[in-house]
Formats: sequence, C-alpha cells, structure tokens
Amino acid sequence: ETTKRKKPDWLRVKLPVGKEYAKVRKLVDQHKLNTICESGNCPNMGECWGAGTATFMILGNVCTRSCSFCAVATGRPPEYDTDEPRRVAEAIQLMGVKHAVITSVNRDELKDKGAEIWYQTVVETKKLSPQTTIETLIPDVKSNWDALYRMISGGQEVVSHNMETVESLYRRVRPQAKYARSLEQIKLTKEYGKRTKTGIMLGLGESKDEVFKAMDDLAANGCDILTLGQYLQPTKMHIEVAEFIHPDMFAIYREEGLKRGLKYVESGPLVRSSYHAERHVNV
Ligand code: SF4
Ligand code: SF4
Repeated sequence: ETTKRKKPDWLRVKLPVGKEYAKVRKLVDQHKLNTICESGNCPNMGECWGAGTATFMILGNVCTRSCSFCAVATGRPPEYDTDEPRRVAEAIQLMGVKHAVITSVNRDELKDKGAEIWYQTVVETKKLSPQTTIETLIPDVKSNWDALYRMISGGQEVVSHNMETVESLYRRVRPQAKYARSLEQIKLTKEYGKRTKTGIMLGLGESKDEVFKAMDDLAANGCDILTLGQYLQPTKMHIEVAEFIHPDMFAIYREEGLKRGLKYVESGPLVRSSYHAERHVNV
C-alpha cells in the first residue's frame, strides 16, 4: 500500500540540537566549507551532526548539472578555491572522526573535472588524519578516465558514485548523465582496485523489477556496496515523490540485493549515501 503526498511517520527525524551539533556547525563555518548535508536539505542532520560528523562538498556549491531531485544550485561555477583541500583536511582532523565522507558538485566545464582538487583533498586529509578512513562520493567524469584515475588515487578506502535511479528514469531525474556510463565508471573504479559503492533513491516511480535489474547490473560491474533510501522532494520546484516506500519493502530490497551478489546493502527510508557510512568501510 502506498501513501501519496503526506509524509508517513517512519520519515520523522531528530531535531538538530546539542553540543556536538554546535561543534560541527562551527567547524563548517570557520573553515568556510560546504556540506551536502545542508546543500541537499538532508533529513539526517540532527543525527549525523549530533554525532559529530558531516559530509563536506568540495569544488564549490554551484553545480554545472540540473538533476531534478537535487537541491544544490545549478549554474556556472566561479573559479575553484585552491586552498579548499587544506581547509577540508583541517576540519576533518578537528572533527576527529574514524571515517570521513567527501563529495563534490559536478564541474563539467573543467578539463580535469575537478580531479586535481579531489586528489589534493584526499592526500591532505590522509596527511593530517592517517587513521581516518576516507570515502569519496565522486561525480560523473563523462568518460574522462584519466580524470577518474587521478580522482581516486589519493589513498581513499571507498569510492562511491551514485546511480541515483533506475535506467528508465534517467532522462527525468539525471538528464546530463547516462546509466551505462555511470556503470562503466564503477567498473573501472573496481578494476583500479578500490572498494566501490553506489546509491539509489526509491519512490521516484521505479518498478521493483527495475530496481532488481539495477542490482544485477551493479553486481555485474563490480559494485560492492549499495545504499537505498526514500527520495524526498527538497522544494516544490523539484521532481515530485511518486511513492513512499514502506520500511518492510526496504528490508526486502536489502535481502534481494545481497542475493544478487552485492556485498553490503544499507536500505531504509532515511538512508543516504553518506548515512552510517562507517559501518561498511571494510566489507
Ligand atoms: Fe550529512 Fe550524509 Fe548525514 Fe545526511 S546522511 S546529514 S548528508 S552525513
Ligand atoms: Fe546535484 Fe550532483 Fe546532480 Fe549536481 S550532479 S545537480 S550536485 S546530484
């Protein structure tokens, strides 16, 4: 049974308060950093920031793409900030987390797709926090594989690239991306020797069989970890929620993903690609 419009109870979240929350707030502001937690209107900020962790978004807060689910601003980004890698590394050191997740906007206009800044951010972070494992949620490099290899060679443990949705919804949800190209990026990342991860949002109108097909494609292309979460509309300007998926269905998807060859599946209404990421670093 699906519920339209009204948000079901299982999507209720904690309010953002507390000492740890305030500490993260201050770190982000003082280091002049962007987070996908804020830019993406993430419902888990109370929980994650309250536990002392956040996901930094590098290469600015303006994206060259216009994915219909995403709250990040679209436009022509200004020149990137070459001091950002140092500030990210310092903020992560001060957060003192065991596992750090970093993401970025898409910078299609840059020849190297932002690979150099990505590389430096990971290297600087490892330098200051050698015990911290790093997960990089990287953009679509549009088959610029040199850029991909630079982006993933800084020593990070996990490389994530989100498929976001099933193949048939790409044009509506992720118009500048291609399903097969993102799969290939994951495959090459795996062949390069990295632990691979992806995320898919549910509730955009996909069928169960389409989700199963995506799982098969991911397993066949060397994806290790899959996150499945409920899509929530960030503003009225964004694509509408087609369906609120029941928590029991998320549990079924989890089992099905494991059966189909994925090593780890984190699945639940509030799961985001950076949610509880420390749990599956070493799968
Ligand atoms: Fe930030 Fe990810 Fe937590 Fe959301 S789930 S608050 S994006 S770290
Ligand atoms: Fe948002 Fe990423 Fe799409 Fe840019 S590429 S609009 S940041 S989801």
